[in-house]
Amino acid sequence: MNENEFKRNELLAKKTIKGINSRNMTGHYAKDKKEALDIALSLIPEGASVTMGGCTSAREIGLVDTLKSGNYNFIDRDNYEDKRQAMLFGYDADVFLSSANAMTDDGVIINIDGNSNRVSAIAQGPKKVIFIVGMNKVCSDVDAAMKRARNVAAPINAQRFNLDTPCSKTGSCMNCKSPDTICCQILITRYSRHADRIHVILVNDDLGF
Ligand code: SF4
Repeated sequence: MNENEFKRNELLAKKTIKGINSRNMTGHYAKDKKEALDIALSLIPEGASVTMGGCTSAREIGLVDTLKSGNYNFIDRDNYEDKRQAMLFGYDADVFLSSANAMTDDGVIINIDGNSNRVSAIAQGPKKVIFIVGMNKVCSDVDAAMKRARNVAAPINAQRFNLDTPCSKTGSCMNCKSPDTICCQILITRYSRHADRIHVILVNDDLGF
């Protein structure tokens, strides 16, 4: 990223954070991955139970490794044979980590889901939800964010998990009803009823898909 792109993202992040804050959520700006990690850790007290739903961005800023090796109760679904049990523990966690498939520059967050554990935990359950979002995910409005979610994020995720969906073959959404679809539920987070529950860390970098 060149200097001008960095500055443009910085300005866009300011606008986006204003929008996030107007929705009873809390926006944070991180100039890079290191600062994003520091902000995330400042929001997670030691000893907290933490879980996540498919959050590549949290891995990319080093948060998952830090939590696993630190004094936290990290609920790692991969370590549970009973995935349903892990998911149920997750609903009662202190902190849930997520990325966004896309968001608008006035603070609306879009997530699509196949199993739907991620979108359900964002909507309800964990006491705090921390989104880690690269500036590459910020779009001009809900329509553009939805298009990004279904034409950029979904095809890449479908390919990652070797799913038999049209988008994994064509690279764009065909509005499928295939058994493998990852668009079973689409969550639009436009307001938080509970102050201090949803935090969004906007990172001036490309993260995730
Ligand atoms: S609806 Fe189907 S084709 Fe469209 S993004 Fe979702 S999984 Fe892919």
